Amino acid sequence: MTAFPDIIPAIRAAAPALRGRLIANQLLSDLTWFRVGGPAQVLFTPADEEDLAHLLDVLDPDLPVTVIGLGSNLIVRDGGIPGVTIRLGGKAFGSVEIDGETLRAGTAVPDMRLAKTAAEASLDGLAFLRGIPGSIGGALRMNAGAHGGETTDVLVEARGIDRSGTLRVFTHAKMGFTYRHSEAPEDVIFTSALFRGRPGDRREIEAEMDRVTAAREAAQPIRERTGGSTFKNPPGGKAWQLVDAAGCRGLTLGGAQVSEMHCNFLINRADASASDIEALGEEVRRRVRETSGVELHWEIRRIGVPASTGG
Ligand SMILES: Cc1cc2nc3c(=O)[nH]c(=O)nc-3n(C[C@H](O)[C@H](O)[C@H](O)COP(=O)(O)OP(=O)(O)OC[C@H]3O[C@@H](n4cnc5c(N)ncnc54)[C@H](O)[C@@H]3O)c2cc1C
Repeated sequence: MTAFPDIIPAIRAAAPALRGRLIANQLLSDLTWFRVGGPAQVLFTPADEEDLAHLLDVLDPDLPVTVIGLGSNLIVRDGGIPGVTIRLGGKAFGSVEIDGETLRAGTAVPDMRLAKTAAEASLDGLAFLRGIPGSIGGALRMNAGAHGGETTDVLVEARGIDRSGTLRVFTHAKMGFTYRHSEAPEDVIFTSALFRGRPGDRREIEAEMDRVTAAREAAQPIRERTGGSTFKNPPGGKAWQLVDAAGCRGLTLGGAQVSEMHCNFLINRADASASDIEALGEEVRRRVRETSGVELHWEIRRIGVPASTGG
């Protein structure tokens, strides 16, 4: 791996009061489900929300900033991510507080933990999060959903910091949720969110979560190095059916493969590069376009730069 120039001394000079952790050239393949991707030029783990706002306030406005969650919906390209990549840690952003029927969660909280905490408090409506292996931050950005539930169904408001370091609060309406998408400005880094459950029976909610888990075990390659559903379902259709009809089930490119088990999942079968996985996805899109005329759109976020241009 070639490295990006170390810009940490310049960041420290601009922000001497910074309390969070800065790491130069942190390999991101360790932090993504696909286990691929080059380094972050700088990986920043803020000490708390104020620390995050401080960095964004003083950082050179031309320096790109990227936020990642648990990396379960990401292809980080092989050249890595220039600028500052931010990952919120569980210490400062990992708490869940319950007040009556509402839950306030830090955005580093795994979706599965929020589902479990809601069930323990006999709050219904969040069981769908049990099967989604991302964080609350990713769920807000992606309007994550499954088994008939979506983030939009339970969110009251989200709080975050924008690129200029300003605190922003987004009501449900301002989040502009549509299928696997939020209209909230892309520069906003969500820090916490308020959810509303409804009173339910703990045992029934836990039974529902068990059904969600069993359905996933049976239908998805959840123990593979993958990024979940690769393409969004087109209106009125299922992406996996189009991929299957195009003859792509099991298709390989380098170390990447279309899952035999669920053909809207790509997997890193054997030391794939990010470029193998992305090229395989593009090949699938081409074949689907050819056989059915449908243009599939990526659900997985692809970020960073190709190997020849990066770190
Ligand atoms: C086995 C498997 C099964 C899956 N099943 C489902 C499913 O059923 N339903 C579903 O919806 N998804 C599913 N996914 C995809 C993924 O888990 C979700 O999209 C999840 O919400 C991503 O969260 P993350 O923390 O991993 O985000 P990442 O993958 O790290 O990032 C995804 C996007 O969110 C943004 N983001 C992350 N944190 C923040 C933040 N704090 N503020 C602002 N933006 C942020 C990133 O910039 C990026 O654009 C699955 C993935 C896998 C691997």
